[in-house]
Amino acid sequence: MKQMYIGGRWIGARDERTIPVVSPADGEAFERVPRGGAHEVDLAVAAARAALDGPWGRVTATERGRVLVRIGEAVLANEDELARLEARDTGKPMATARNDIRVLARYFEFYGTAADKVHGETIPFLAGHQVSLVREPLGVTAHIIPWNYPAQMLGRTVAPALAMGNAAVLKPAEDTPLSALRVAELAAAAGLPEGAFNVVTGLGEEAGAALAAHPGIDFVSFTGSNEVGTLVQQAAAKNAVKCVLELGGKSPQIVFDDVDVERAVPIVVRAIVQNAGQTCTAGSRLLVQRSIHDAFVARVAEAFAKVRVGTPEMDLDCGPVMNPAQQRRVQRYVDGAKAAGIPVIAQGRIADGVPPGGYWVTPTLFGPVPRDAAIAREEVFGPVLAAMSFEDEADAIRLANGTDYGLLAAVWTGNSGRLHRVAKAVRAGQVFMNCYGAGGGVELPFGGTKRSGHGREKGLLALEELSTTKTLVHWHG
Ligand code: NAD
Repeated sequence: MKQMYIGGRWIGARDERTIPVVSPADGEAFERVPRGGAHEVDLAVAAARAALDGPWGRVTATERGRVLVRIGEAVLANEDELARLEARDTGKPMATARNDIRVLARYFEFYGTAADKVHGETIPFLAGHQVSLVREPLGVTAHIIPWNYPAQMLGRTVAPALAMGNAAVLKPAEDTPLSALRVAELAAAAGLPEGAFNVVTGLGEEAGAALAAHPGIDFVSFTGSNEVGTLVQQAAAKNAVKCVLELGGKSPQIVFDDVDVERAVPIVVRAIVQNAGQTCTAGSRLLVQRSIHDAFVARVAEAFAKVRVGTPEMDLDCGPVMNPAQQRRVQRYVDGAKAAGIPVIAQGRIADGVPPGGYWVTPTLFGPVPRDAAIAREEVFGPVLAAMSFEDEADAIRLANGTDYGLLAAVWTGNSGRLHRVAKAVRAGQVFMNCYGAGGGVELPFGGTKRSGHGREKGLLALEELSTTKTLVHWHG
């Protein structure tokens, strides 16, 4: 039984309620965490405010940065333990979990070393005046994160918040609270003052909703579904609080007839299979120019058929999906596509000997998929790839932009003019050209257009999102 971390103390829920933590690889509960609610959120927001008014608010940018760097080092020193914890919590292969922990450490390193490099500006103004623009923390920042990359998401949103001098309250997903609790422990040992980082475990509709609506917060960052993102934005609006939303995606791989096939095929397959397709930036649509469509898709099918699904210890291409609801959701899309007569081109395989209670789904490549099919337009959040063909550049752009989402896109062509024309025309927060980086790149500003959300995370832009400015006007005569 774990406890929550609030104001430098480990506590249970006031009413002593708990929620189970289940391994997706066998469906068994192996841990319990407190079911925090409005009361615990109140405590955490008060603790964060006290930290800002106390020692944390007085720490210099350089010292803040040093603490963050030390947290990153502590994460790396405990990489093995954290990776096992994350793999157990999420069901993902050990190699993927290990990579996630390294990325978590990298966020703390990146933002720790950036903390004292955020400068202000001076602004020419009237005679006798000196005007400067200084950056300040927002205050108490709230962070609600999903279950697909719990450790990475923590680093992505909390590290820049702390770097800018905010005090953070994190509500991890109910399915995956464990890495956050361990990081809180490591952060305290690394010297982070109490109250600067608080973790409230609990259900979304209880702890999450209470946090998003709390009048004591100054900012909310949310990553998850569009439905909940809308609720969070409405709650933030009532308090006139800024929010950053990272929602879903339906990212296209746009493949022209002069593609480097050998390079593209493994990357295209990995971009959808990674994390069992539960990646907001999964490359879930394969758009191929008609002249090479059949030949290219045949090559993708060959690689796709080799995909193997297994437990974290088996360390194969991907693991199970997160929970029974997610398993039903993916199965519903697969069954729906089959019922609509959309051909299955290739399937991966679930490894022999996986525990029967795990949430297994078979990776599936469908095609040709009609442009108006559900799997062509909606986010499945599972290892399901929809292949479609296009005629020419204009048609490719129309098709690529033909969903509600706009998170990532990739363009594959040997023609550099076309590469840049298409990249410019595609509506997405990131466009990869002859490469793909689902989820990768701590340094690279990231975020959505259209229904994929708004605001930017990662890179130095996150420091702007997580701070505000004050204009100082000094008349000196
Ligand atoms: P979700 O939106 O239900 O949950 C995300 C987080 O929000 C969790 O921490 C949850 O506890 C919390 N939450 C739930 N209800 C809340 C409420 N009323 N108020 C405040 N917080 C609340 O998402 P999920 O069920 O975990 O994942 C399902 C879908 O989310 C996926 O199918 C996918 O579309 C999307 N998703 C997107 C990303 C991304 O990075 N863009 C990541 C994960 C999931």
